[in-house]
Amino acid sequence: MMSILKIDNLHKTFGSKEVLRGLEMEVPEHSIFGFVGQNGSGKTTTMKTILGLLKPTSGSITVCGEKVVYGDTRTNRHIGYLPDVPEFYGYMTPMEYLKLCGEITGLTKQQIQSKSEELLTLVGLAGEKRKISGFSRGMKQRLGIAQALLNEPKLLICDEPTSALDPMGRKEILDILLAIKGKNTVVFSTHVLSDVERICDHVAILHNGKLALYGTLEQLKERHKHNGFIIDFSNKSEADFFANCDELKQPSINLLLEENRLTVTVADTKAGGQCLIDLLAKKQMTPIKFERMEPTLESLFEEVIQ
Ligand code: ADP
Repeated sequence: MMSILKIDNLHKTFGSKEVLRGLEMEVPEHSIFGFVGQNGSGKTTTMKTILGLLKPTSGSITVCGEKVVYGDTRTNRHIGYLPDVPEFYGYMTPMEYLKLCGEITGLTKQQIQSKSEELLTLVGLAGEKRKISGFSRGMKQRLGIAQALLNEPKLLICDEPTSALDPMGRKEILDILLAIKGKNTVVFSTHVLSDVERICDHVAILHNGKLALYGTLEQLKERHKHNGFIIDFSNKSEADFFANCDELKQPSINLLLEENRLTVTVADTKAGGQCLIDLLAKKQMTPIKFERMEPTLESLFEEVIQ
């Protein structure tokens, strides 16, 4: 699969502060790529370097196969960018604003009209007659996405697009990013891990100037899978009964009982899982849920930043 964005051995130093120390990253086409890191880990620095706005200390970046050159905006024709706090002319309506942006970009009148309508519909602002100054933060972010998509970029880069929003505003943004996935590739930075779990197919965790974890969400979970199972019974007494079976009293099995949920940690997942299933069958018990324990992105993140 083609990489829309490729970062090779990127270093960036501010004075004596080394923010990026050999960052390697590849973003496949049509992915939704979650770029995760704590505040101050260098996410914005990376994005600004991709946009040619910051000069790397060393290393190279290519966008759609073209090398990014500092101070030269040519590669930005492939990129739409949503800064963390987008700025607008507050006295304009969203349509007026997009028209202005379209004129600056050099689109024809007809292109501007149809593109603006299409994008305002996409972000749920079609027919919005109010001036931008009266917009909520979420509305401004949505308008920012519409603006960033105006020149039909292959790659949309969003800097913490959901961080300052309430749950509803956050969902609206995530839904928009999901909706454009087929056409565009999306990289978004965040420290909100639940957002990544909801929409991203690829995840990179930036820590100490490098990627500490990288892969598809599935790969990461598979690689860090714990040897255990979660069994939910319909009530507490069933869970109690099962947890007290003699067959489970083994040194290699650890049990944690919480209400109707039994969490079982085993030494060997295959043998342990089979033993649990056999025992359920023998006791003629049907749990309401039986699943492998999955690490959460939260727990992976905590592991790598320790
Ligand atoms: P993030 O986006 O992950 O919160 P940033 O890329 O904004 O992180 O910042 C990474 C680090 O680089 C921070 O410690 C920040 O203070 C520092 N930094 C960013 N820009 C500059 C700059 N222009 N001059 C000096 N230090 C900077």
